[in-house]
Amino acid sequence: MNFSLIVPSYNEARNLPTFIAAATACLDGEDLDYELVFVDDGSSDDTSEVLKREIESYRAAGSGRAAFVVVELARNFGKEAALHAGLERATGDCIGFIDADMQQDPQVALKMLRFLDDNPEIDCVAAVQESRKESLPLRACKKLFYRVFNGMSDTRIIADVSDFRVFRRPVAEALLSLREQFRFSKGLFAWVGFSTHVMPYQVHERLSGKSKWTVRKLVSYGWNGVLAFSTWPLKLVMYTGVILALITLFFFGWDLFEKMAYNYDISTTQLLVYVVLLMGGIQMFVLGILGEYMARAYIEAKNRPVCIVRSEYAFAAAANQAPSKVRASASTASETEALSDDAGTGARCA
Ligand code: UDP
Ligand code: MG
Repeated sequence: MNFSLIVPSYNEARNLPTFIAAATACLDGEDLDYELVFVDDGSSDDTSEVLKREIESYRAAGSGRAAFVVVELARNFGKEAALHAGLERATGDCIGFIDADMQQDPQVALKMLRFLDDNPEIDCVAAVQESRKESLPLRACKKLFYRVFNGMSDTRIIADVSDFRVFRRPVAEALLSLREQFRFSKGLFAWVGFSTHVMPYQVHERLSGKSKWTVRKLVSYGWNGVLAFSTWPLKLVMYTGVILALITLFFFGWDLFEKMAYNYDISTTQLLVYVVLLMGGIQMFVLGILGEYMARAYIEAKNRPVCIVRSEYAFAAAANQAPSKVRASASTASETEALSDDAGTGARCA
């Protein structure tokens, strides 16, 4: 079996020597062909030079089994884009994501890989932080975000799950088939499905430097996630409009009843307020409907596959022939044919 470990790296020159030493020390001892795929996400420090130097000295030592890929992005595109670029180059049967700052232990990545080895029915192992070393307000905000997101979206994400994961190639192919620009990997992993095992792990302190997340970036990342996976904000506008219109109609009806029963006066101002509120409610309702159509156009424009196939079996007509498994999930048609001559269909259903 072989393994690709993807390492997004943005200004990580000071952490990468330790990371490479730790990752190779951990994986070289295993009976495993593996590659480390580094994506330099437009670093302004000497990340790339350090990477190449460290790789050369590792290769010069001649005792390791690691292969390396270094991808340099033309500018800082963000971690999600870096992960995608890494996925496009990774060739392993199993693929993992890990940060370069030593907050995530390569040993845990190996443990996740071994778990996949031992459990063929599982396709993805996701590490979840056991305890968080974050301030109370930040923790509360994140907890609230997961609640709100899962309440609003049909795609459910597991709270506190990071993108520190190891998964099988079909999962990678499925992720690659989603070409959208605004990428929110927690949501993408949840959307493609596959059986996922959650593995708790202890997050370490960052070795050197600071986290690239600022409050502004976190808020915009969360908002992107909501917009990419839910049209709930639009529905909220629509429902508010309906409720406003209904409340207005109720009070107007009540006043009308009082006028007819007890001959109470309805002032012009009152009437004006009712008209304004009713029109406002109707307008919000119509805006919501328009928004829904736009949202659908947006979803279509993302061109996501209609569904992702996990596996597929072909049964030959002759009873004495065993069914052949067509390993699927967004694999290409030629791959499918190589695995089974009986299968005439491609594995992708979109
Ligand atoms: N990263 C990246 N591009 C960015 C920001 C971060 O590739 O624009 C990488 C970074 O080098 C690290 C990983 O993503 O390997 C996680 O970043 P960070 O440590 O800042 O995030 P945190 O651990 O605080 O969530
Ligand atoms: Mg970090």
